[in-house]
Amino acid sequence: MPDKGSERGRFLPSAVSLQGRKILIVDDDRANLEFVKEGLGDEYSFHDATDGEQALAVVRDFMPDLVICDVEMPRMSGFDVVRILKNNRRFSFIPIILMTARAETERKLEGLELGADDYLIKPVNLLELGARVRSMLRIKVLQDELLTTNNRLQEINEKLHELSVTDTLTGLFNRLYFTKRFAYEFQRAMRYNIKLSCVMLDIDHFKDVNDTYGHQMGDEVLKGVADALKAGLRRVDLLARYGGEEIVIVLPETDLERAVHVAERLRESVSEMEHREGDKAVRVTCSMGVSALPNEKVQDCDGLLKLADEALYEAKEGGRNKVCAKQ
Ligand code: GH3
Ligand code: MG
Ligand code: MG
Ligand code: MG
Repeated sequence: MPDKGSERGRFLPSAVSLQGRKILIVDDDRANLEFVKEGLGDEYSFHDATDGEQALAVVRDFMPDLVICDVEMPRMSGFDVVRILKNNRRFSFIPIILMTARAETERKLEGLELGADDYLIKPVNLLELGARVRSMLRIKVLQDELLTTNNRLQEINEKLHELSVTDTLTGLFNRLYFTKRFAYEFQRAMRYNIKLSCVMLDIDHFKDVNDTYGHQMGDEVLKGVADALKAGLRRVDLLARYGGEEIVIVLPETDLERAVHVAERLRESVSEMEHREGDKAVRVTCSMGVSALPNEKVQDCDGLLKLADEALYEAKEGGRNKVCAKQ
């Protein structure tokens, strides 16, 4: 049984290691800068800067976990540093503690409104400094962990989405994805009167490949054909595994004549390939049926697919290794 208490403890701030966290101290007064640094001891790793410009350069180069910054500095004040860092997406997560000799509430509020995370009054009380630094760093560390987890989740999500639309064997889109994308392309074409072609492809005598050379060779052939088709198409074209050894291609903004031309080119490249599995090698051909919009006989996606399928049947009947079109 996992110990629930210690599991929860993992997320308690006290369990967070702050060893070696990077702190940038900014002060035009060197003496105060050294005082703060020494006051924080040797648990952290320090960078320092004596003006705002330098501070921003250090932030860019070293990405500190915390900035402790004097308010009153020549040229660029601590407020300016806060404003610049908090307005930059890359740096806005870095906590900033401002230090000022002036204790007026108004000034304090100005800094906090700009996005400073905490405030210290000079001369700095070292006990208070230590406590505030630890608390800011704990938040920063937990925030970093959250960000990492979030990025990881996003990656996993993208991977899952990719898997859900992909056919494992060929790497082509699967039928489910095809159905959705095809519906979208079809509707777009109908609505805006854009040309759209559909090609149904079926490998010739594929059963013989399996029967003669084995199923594994069959798989290699399928992968090889898919790769050849992928290489021969544009990025906007939709290429999906429709069934066992049937592949469907949707060519947006392409008319029937042009689609037949593309199909001919693909048919030829498939027929020229040699597929290998172990020490065996085989060649295959494929037949294709093409249909296209505009076509007044076609009302919906299925209608266009059906026409392509009928054309494919004609190509098979006509002797295979052929492209037939149906208007
Ligand atoms: P035709 O020229 O008329 O298309 O003949 P064919 O043999 O290709 O047609 P048929 O539809 O009779 O056979 C298709 C075969 O494809 C049957 C099935 O075993 C095979 N097949 C389907 N999916 C896969 C797969 O993922 N891997 C392998 N190796 N074979 C598959
Ligand atoms: Mg100063
Ligand atoms: Mg078939
Ligand atoms: Mg076949």
